[in-house]
Amino acid sequence: MKPSDKTCCKCKTEAATVLIRQAYYCQSCFMFTFVGKYRSILLRLRNGNRQNGKVLLACSGGPSSIAMVNLTKNFMRVVPTEKKKVQLIPEAIVCHIDESSLFENNKGYAEKLKENMEKDFDGFEYFSHRLEEVFGPEFTKSGEFNKILKSSSGGIENGEYEHFVQCVQNNSTKPLAEQLQTLFNSIKKTAAKEDLIWNLKMKMIVTVAKREGCSYIFMGDSATRQAIKMIAMTSKGRGYTLPLDIGVDNEISFKDICVMRPMKDMLSKEIGFYNYFSKIDKYIMPAFNFSTMMPAKSSIERLTEDFIVSIEREFSSTVSTICRTITKLQPSADMDLTKTCAMCLMPLESGIAEWRRHITVTDVEGVELPAKKDDGCCSTNECCSNTGGCSTEDKQSKIDMNKFMCYNCQVDLKDYNSTTIENLPPYMAESVVDQSRDNRLLDQIKDFLIDDDEE
Ligand SMILES: [Zn+2]
Ligand SMILES: [Zn+2]
Repeated sequence: MKPSDKTCCKCKTEAATVLIRQAYYCQSCFMFTFVGKYRSILLRLRNGNRQNGKVLLACSGGPSSIAMVNLTKNFMRVVPTEKKKVQLIPEAIVCHIDESSLFENNKGYAEKLKENMEKDFDGFEYFSHRLEEVFGPEFTKSGEFNKILKSSSGGIENGEYEHFVQCVQNNSTKPLAEQLQTLFNSIKKTAAKEDLIWNLKMKMIVTVAKREGCSYIFMGDSATRQAIKMIAMTSKGRGYTLPLDIGVDNEISFKDICVMRPMKDMLSKEIGFYNYFSKIDKYIMPAFNFSTMMPAKSSIERLTEDFIVSIEREFSSTVSTICRTITKLQPSADMDLTKTCAMCLMPLESGIAEWRRHITVTDVEGVELPAKKDDGCCSTNECCSNTGGCSTEDKQSKIDMNKFMCYNCQVDLKDYNSTTIENLPPYMAESVVDQSRDNRLLDQIKDFLIDDDEE
């Protein structure tokens, strides 16, 4: 559509070429407004006593992250003609997670992106990690998971974790890509797969940011994506951590790192125009994921996407209205940041199991679990298990994974079978082992602790 018979609503002189939310803009006014929105988010970097620091740009190669990389590039140099000579971002790196082991169609993306970065964005150092590397030692807290395993199997009573530990070690001999495929193939529901891949990517991005000394992570979620996530995550039961999951700046989840979403005010349509006018649309790589080409009902997120995009077509302020709500979200004041979900790394609310027992129609204990494998490590009766576990005689020797997970991840766990649990990447096992040890210690010394409130 070319609304050329209208004049631009800003300069009132040029013929309009762009229609955004029922307002007509000429190209230069549109670009000015768009870049201005990015600048105003970047100014949040200077909020309070935040340090100007190195930024990691998470880049999938999709339209929004490519736009983000281009916008950032232009804010890294000081423009001599501008009045305010501030360099908002001193240093930035680009980080890409290569998902081609799961999605055949994404093959070659990482290499192509690298090439494009070198050609047009040589100010950024480029890092690419294959998704399966999340099984490697680099993505564990200790950097050497075996060490943790040894000390915990020796240090924790009853040998409770020995079998669990063994599973992780047995799996680690397989090629990483195969481990990743086995993991995802064992999950039935698309929604659980989508959550897991998001969690793995987030874990990797945070690890790379720490390794490279970044103070900020920029995620390229557009306004449209943010609106979809807000509704989808709420329906999945992530209300407790929602302000951290999708907030504009989350500086409390990860030590010394602030996660920002600078594209959160830009609609997909605006991003499309920006990329086109900036001549960077040639760099965009169409992303494939679990819900690509799938019917709308294949997952909550996919269904929400369909829903929001279709309303937005009729009512152009739908997305921005939802997004305005996101800026008002605040994490609960009594949120305990020391206890985090082993899967999604977000704080977990205490007493979820109790609460879930009250609201769930089917009692988790009554859920029938998949049959045991007859070979491999779970042929013994001490299988590391999920909700309720494979029916073993010795209930004591099982780990209740639920204790270390948030509500949403617990729900996903119901779509896992015993192989899925065994195939989870070591960072999750490490977190379970760590937190369980902390709980035990706390339990042992709790009688000697003085409650702050009792003073
Ligand atoms: Zn204009
Ligand atoms: Zn979680």
